[in-house]
Amino acid sequence: MSTIVAISTALGNSGIGIIRMSGEECFEIISKIFKPKTKKIDIKPNTINYGHIVSGDEIVDEVLVSFFKAPKSFTTENMCEINSHGGIVIMNKILELCLKNGAQLAEPGEFTKRAFLNGRIDLTQAEAVIDIINAKTEKEAKASVKQLDGYLSEKLKNIKKKIMDILVDIEASIDYPEYDVEEVTSNKVLVTVEDIENDLLNLRKTFENGKLIKEGLKIAIIGRPNAGKSSLLNVILKEERAIVTEYEGTTRDTIEEFIQIDGIPIKIIDTAGIRETEDAVEKIGINKSKNIANEADLIIAIIDASKELNEEDRQILEFVEEKKAIILLNKVDLPMKISENDIKNITENKKILKISALNKEGIENIFNAISEMYRFNEIEIDDSLTITNNRHKDAIQNMIKHTKNVKESIQNNMPIDVITIYINEILNEIGNITGESVSEDIINEIFKKFCLGK
Ligand code: GDP
Repeated sequence: MSTIVAISTALGNSGIGIIRMSGEECFEIISKIFKPKTKKIDIKPNTINYGHIVSGDEIVDEVLVSFFKAPKSFTTENMCEINSHGGIVIMNKILELCLKNGAQLAEPGEFTKRAFLNGRIDLTQAEAVIDIINAKTEKEAKASVKQLDGYLSEKLKNIKKKIMDILVDIEASIDYPEYDVEEVTSNKVLVTVEDIENDLLNLRKTFENGKLIKEGLKIAIIGRPNAGKSSLLNVILKEERAIVTEYEGTTRDTIEEFIQIDGIPIKIIDTAGIRETEDAVEKIGINKSKNIANEADLIIAIIDASKELNEEDRQILEFVEEKKAIILLNKVDLPMKISENDIKNITENKKILKISALNKEGIENIFNAISEMYRFNEIEIDDSLTITNNRHKDAIQNMIKHTKNVKESIQNNMPIDVITIYINEILNEIGNITGESVSEDIINEIFKKFCLGK
């Protein structure tokens, strides 16, 4: 395989930057551009050498270079990492020197892809690498680290072993029909397949939490103009446990903000930018809010409690009646014109909280209500494996379907070779998850999501 190179640290001005190289010619290339302070370059595995990157006679930067000899490296190939100063100009210059001397620019994720193709990690572990890099919360990072550690691979290996045992039994019953062991085999297969199905059902169960950990919740704040949506969002974002990043909303009139509550990522969609049009019939504002809210997991409906309920408030309350929602009575620092009962007359069984966005009162209660609603504190990933990846969930789902088919076929006294087909389908799905039997397209799709230099 060719020798690849990339800048592995984020491009920006920082203390140090790392340029990473992997492949057969990596040591040859580095020898041409690195002059150690000691007289001779000494490429010993797992050592760090101090010296200069040079371009002819010109010193480009003072660096540390670490060497990893095959197969004991991230990619299992010869690798070196140049720790330079973290300036964009310097890092690009060093990168260029590596390219000029025979390395090729790595594609996003290519180092990890090589680790996978060279058999050091399986696909679930490669996927874990990107999840660790992209983790938005500690819980997500923790779940991904476990996956990288091989928790899922191990579990699948166990299931695979059980399946291989079944296949050996079936093989024997086909090879030695005179012993008339088919019935015995069928019973044995049934017991093992039920056991496998149990394992799979337990794995699938973890996805509910896994999805929350990874994708979190989408919450929409709706309410009529001046109800206090923007004020609420501002206080939420100023709370200590909140604010991580801010990005443009998907629609022009909305803002999406990202916070976390008890380690769960929450995307808040603020519809404050949506204004009612002059045209009372059109009611664009409310309709648009409703559309956005329809896509949310949870709605926070905010009502200005210092004013009488008006038609718009009623519309909003009726809209959330059938949805997962929390209702906030805002502006309770002012004399209240709306009571909890007024709300309950329109929409029953909703959590109603009194707050003052202006005085920052009752905000903690909103967080607690959300946390309780979804039982965030019960989501623990310390001693169990959690499936967070949709691709894995789908494959597990398919495997469960195949186990059901196996069971049914046995119960219907189908010939053993038909049963074998379904059993092999389970094996195939395991291969899809671990990457042993996955298509190249899917592999490419997965590694495309990586950043450069990983
Ligand atoms: P939005 O149109 O729903 O985004 O509402 P804003 O957040 O812009 O608030 C509208 C007005 O209500 C502003 O003047 C806020 O200062 C005021 N406001 C918001 N929350 C409170 C509150 O809790 N108490 C009082 N007294 N005023 C509030």
